[in-house]
Amino acid sequence: MTAHLIDGRAEAERLLAQVKSRIQAFTAWYARRPCLAVILVGDDIASAVYVRAKMRCAVEAGIASIPYYLPENTSEDDLLRLLDDLNDSSIVDGILVQLPLPPHITKDRVLHHIHPEKDVDGFHPVNAGLLATGQPCVVPCTPQGCLQLVHTVRKELMGLHVVVVGRSTIVGRPAAQVFLNADCSVTIIHKDSRDVPGHCRDADILVVAAGHAGLIQRDWVKPGAIVIDVGINRIEGPSGPRIVGDVAYDEVREVAAAITPVPGGVGPMTVATLMENTLFCAETRQRARSTLFLAGAAL
Ligand code: NAD
Repeated sequence: MTAHLIDGRAEAERLLAQVKSRIQAFTAWYARRPCLAVILVGDDIASAVYVRAKMRCAVEAGIASIPYYLPENTSEDDLLRLLDDLNDSSIVDGILVQLPLPPHITKDRVLHHIHPEKDVDGFHPVNAGLLATGQPCVVPCTPQGCLQLVHTVRKELMGLHVVVVGRSTIVGRPAAQVFLNADCSVTIIHKDSRDVPGHCRDADILVVAAGHAGLIQRDWVKPGAIVIDVGINRIEGPSGPRIVGDVAYDEVREVAAAITPVPGGVGPMTVATLMENTLFCAETRQRARSTLFLAGAAL
């Protein structure tokens, strides 16, 4: 068997086209564009590349984006003050703080300071709690993108066994919740789990977010499984550095039914989903404003 290749770039294009037309309708109706503030602290090269890609995509989608490039030595208090201003801003709908942050800044303090309604990454505990209780919320971009990629090859997921490798708060845990909410049975695996290959072999859908190049080998995958590779690892190849996932792609594609490549799989979907989340936040805020206006008019 040679696995069907799940084309993340094509799927991201399809999602972006839909989001773009919804943004046109939003802009025509409210006479303004959704607005995303993007904050980068320091000069990490990979982070700068990701931020540029997100800003470019926002422009293409019709979203106004405001970049904040802050120096590496920005204090945590200064960053929190900027977040206060953006939380209070009437024009900003979404706030994204690019990770990782410099070591002197506490990631959770910063992410928890973003107003949940403007939390386009869906990392705030309020959104995590809503997701965990199966309620409408801002769903983290990467897990949501994983689900949509699975849906390109299989619509009905009820009762399927999903194994998520990784338990981070930004990928593994929300991915488990997303698939649980899609009526799957979910197992979460992490670095302290016993018999990781055995658990993986039991998966109908294997979602891997470990940050470990080539971790998942051919005999760890059940024949016919769907494999979603979230990992982004930079390795040295014979012709220079290259990006690979967490799955040994060439060997696993011989047993899986469908597989995402790296690059060109989950990555583009994450960025497209960020645009959808920005629109979701703008629509939610705008609806809340309209309700307040109508309540005021009725008094
Ligand atoms: P993380 O380091 O916070 O978490 C990694 C998780 O994997 C941990 O829970 C750890 O317990 C588990 N793990 C590590 N080695 C393992 C092993 N040998 N067996 C079982 N579990 C193991 O990383 P993260 O932020 O969740 O990101 C994971 C990977 O996904 C990274 O490569 C990251 O670059 C990538 N990523 C990609 C996207 C995207 O859009 N494609 C988005 C976010 C993260």
